[in-house]
Amino acid sequence: MTQTAGMLSLLRCKSCGRLDTAMRVVCAGCLSADLRPVGNDGSGTVATFTTIRRAPTAFRDQAPYDVVVVDLDAGLRMTGRLDKDSAPPSVGARVRVLHSAGADTVFTVETP
Ligand SMILES: [Zn+2]
Repeated sequence: MTQTAGMLSLLRCKSCGRLDTAMRVVCAGCLSADLRPVGNDGSGTVATFTTIRRAPTAFRDQAPYDVVVVDLDAGLRMTGRLDKDSAPPSVGARVRVLHSAGADTVFTVETP
């Protein structure tokens, strides 16, 4: 999947239309292999969040940091990190993707 700054790449099944955030070989809904990447602006709402103080090795130099569970406007729920420079998270806050690469997706809280 190709990732561009500020954009999220999702997979859409050409057979049943299901959207997915995961990199899959076949559709989790209908097992079709006809999956196509589709761009998404990564906008959504914080469903819940937590602060990670004892981070895994890959993110140890960034701790403490917040992890957010986001209900994307596209109708999917996904988990990501919150950018260090972001405003603090709160349930219901609007967020958008800053960058995404593989399983590492970084959100920022939108400020009015
Ligand atoms: Zn499908």
